[in-house]
Amino acid sequence: MELTRRRKSSIQPAVKIDGPLNDLLSEWLKTDYAKSLGFHSKASFITQAARELLLKYRGPHFIGVQKCKTHYTLDDNLTTQKVKIVINNTESSLECSSCDSFNCNHIFFIWSIPQEESDLTKMGFLNPLNYVLQSQP
Ligand SMILES: [Zn+2]
Repeated sequence: MELTRRRKSSIQPAVKIDGPLNDLLSEWLKTDYAKSLGFHSKASFITQAARELLLKYRGPHFIGVQKCKTHYTLDDNLTTQKVKIVINNTESSLECSSCDSFNCNHIFFIWSIPQEESDLTKMGFLNPLNYVLQSQP
């Protein structure tokens, strides 16, 4: 039991937020609009908010972007890990092999490079950050 609790908390640590903000978020998450944006829990919302603010204020920590016809390769200078992002022309999406995700910091970083954003947009790919912003009423 203790092992399970410890393992779970290491994957998704708890974060405290102000009570009134928590109440507002709880109410908003019940709306159809919040659900239509893909926010199914406080964790999903806070994770997205933290991701966007870190990218905005801290900037990316990826270097050495290389692109070929089928994928990008990033060097993560914090973990010294190579990250492969597959360019899926069939689905018009980017897929991160490291995170097994269509919607991670690695993909957001690729979209933050003006030339890549331009090229991907011309190819008909949807920028995951713009999609959320344009969906607001
Ligand atoms: Zn990733």
